[in-house]
Amino acid sequence: MKITSSREVYRCALFAVTEDEAADPKTGFAIKRSVVRHAGSAVMMAVDEKRRILLVRQYRLPAGKCIWELPAGRLDPGERPLQAAKRELAEETGYKARTWTKLASFWVSPGYVQERMTIYQATDLTAGKATPMDDERIEARWFTRREVKEMIASGKIADAKTMVGFYRGLVRNPARG
Ligand SMILES: [Mg+2]
Repeated sequence: MKITSSREVYRCALFAVTEDEAADPKTGFAIKRSVVRHAGSAVMMAVDEKRRILLVRQYRLPAGKCIWELPAGRLDPGERPLQAAKRELAEETGYKARTWTKLASFWVSPGYVQERMTIYQATDLTAGKATPMDDERIEARWFTRREVKEMIASGKIADAKTMVGFYRGLVRNPARG
């Protein structure tokens, strides 16, 4: 398949929407889609020396409520996912990490969103002062792996990137009890 036409119909600070067409040159099979064009995001799973995980809580308008999730942020123009991860972790939580390990990279919702997320585990941490954006009110708290597991099981955590990061982290670093 090849994209044969793309027309921007909306743009805001976070993303653009295009109306696109794609076709298979061999068969002529063609589709039309509206697509949210997005630079991609970095997600940070900070893990401390007690193997606890840092989650943030903020009001998410599409969800209609405050939710606990891994800290994350959009890539700035020209920024690599790892650079964005380092910047966003410091901005949202104040933490800096010496060790970064890629856990996963995935399409958030490939039916209509171009956004790709890359999750990093951040360890060997140093605390500092958070510098959130003007429109961000972020509460941060450490949770044990058992607590996170229970929150996912009970539906208290229902955020996809948080679930992917947590379970990828478990596979890479199996629990010692
Ligand atoms: Mg964020």
